[in-house]
Amino acid sequence: MLIPAQLTPSERILMGPGPSTVPSRILRALGAPTLGHLDPQYLGYMDETCAMLREVFQTRNPLTFPVSGTGMAGMETLATNLLEAGDEAIICINGAFGLRMRDIVQRCGATVHALEVPWGEIFSTDMIARAVADHPRAKLLTIVHAETSTGAHQPLETISEIVHAAGMLLVVDAVTSLGGHELKVDEWQIDAIFSGTQKCLSCPPGLSPVSFSPRAVQVMESRKTKVQSWYLDVSMLRAYYTTGTGRAYHHTAPINMVYALREALRIVLEEGLDARIERHRLMHLRLRAGLEAMGLAYIPTHSLHTLNCVRVPAGIDEAAVRRRLLQEYSIEIGAGLGVFAGQAWRIGLMGHAATPRNIDLLLAALRHCLT
Ligand SMILES: *Cc1c(COP(=O)(O)O)cnc(C)c1O
Repeated sequence: MLIPAQLTPSERILMGPGPSTVPSRILRALGAPTLGHLDPQYLGYMDETCAMLREVFQTRNPLTFPVSGTGMAGMETLATNLLEAGDEAIICINGAFGLRMRDIVQRCGATVHALEVPWGEIFSTDMIARAVADHPRAKLLTIVHAETSTGAHQPLETISEIVHAAGMLLVVDAVTSLGGHELKVDEWQIDAIFSGTQKCLSCPPGLSPVSFSPRAVQVMESRKTKVQSWYLDVSMLRAYYTTGTGRAYHHTAPINMVYALREALRIVLEEGLDARIERHRLMHLRLRAGLEAMGLAYIPTHSLHTLNCVRVPAGIDEAAVRRRLLQEYSIEIGAGLGVFAGQAWRIGLMGHAATPRNIDLLLAALRHCLT
């Protein structure tokens, strides 16, 4: 065959719903020599990575590690390990990722009690309290902290008490909030949480950091049936990822991706978690002021800092604008998803990409495309 030309990907500015622009430090870490997955040197790097993940999740949960796979693998890990056939679960749905959680939970053979609000809206504490009272047999409640499909930011602080008082676990999708929004796993008493590397951590896609509270571990340990997914079975993964259990081989860890995540977490901690969260807030305000000055309106009333979802003005070909941004400015923004397909742009301000330079360039480029 004719061998394709050498790879020369463009240096895009990634301001969509993920992945975000990856700093060169992380790309260099990815290219470091591959070690064996049981090499003590590698195990040291992995332990450091898990320790930094605990720091960034703000948790002391021993069972905190990166699942091999993207964010969806994390979602599937939580659902398959915490639920058994015949269990009941309350699934909060206000966008595409809540819908995916419902699908996965149903595939686990669990009964879903869907708590739905229109896309772009969030759940009030009262609604959660009512759902929990209506379905007392539910084992857990799942909720999306940062709904990337709509840009809605769900407050979690007041939810956990209600969920725990009913004896349920609180399960959270934090893919677009970890490293960009305030997120306190222990203080907010989240029992199981998953994220992704390619959003606010600015690492390439490929790993899904997860963390389980002691309460969640207890639930997993008292399962009556085996987890139907062999690859994502935490009872086996634990023996590799947590120290003191002999480091049993389960699957070959994605060594170089762990290097990349380790470097990404080093960058987060060097900046300081609080400073990083504040930067995302300020960058959101800067972008928002510019977009609103152009007459663009935000769709969610409670917007994320990390994902800005605005309505496309009437008469504008939204795909043509995105194409021009990509071709003329090498900037990627996202299209509307699901209910908002064709009606919205989703502008990510995640990690390394959330800078004044990128925002001002995007605003100028967008102004140019719209006039
Ligand atoms: C991106 C995303 C996911 C899925 O992550 P993948 O890395 O694409 O598998 C899940 N939930 C939310 C909220 C996301 O933004």
